[in-house]
Amino acid sequence: MPSPEMKREKGKRLRCPVCKAPVIYEGNPWRPFCSERCKLRDLGAWAEEEYRIPGGPVAGEEEGGEGDGCIQEDS
Ligand SMILES: [Zn+2]
Repeated sequence: MPSPEMKREKGKRLRCPVCKAPVIYEGNPWRPFCSERCKLRDLGAWAEEEYRIPGGPVAGEEEGGEGDGCIQEDS
């Protein structure tokens, strides 16, 4: 039986999730990104998404219904 090919993954290679450029894993402070720029860019995108979270101020329907046209009932 032929032995299966053992692929040695020496020097793991990744792809930058931002720019898809090949990234060297070892000794890369910005992994899994290729550079600080891409890392910041990804973080920035995250922050933007957070800002986009829906849930603005609740539009009150008929705000302050009471108090209009004071009707004082004096018996
Ligand atoms: Zn990149």
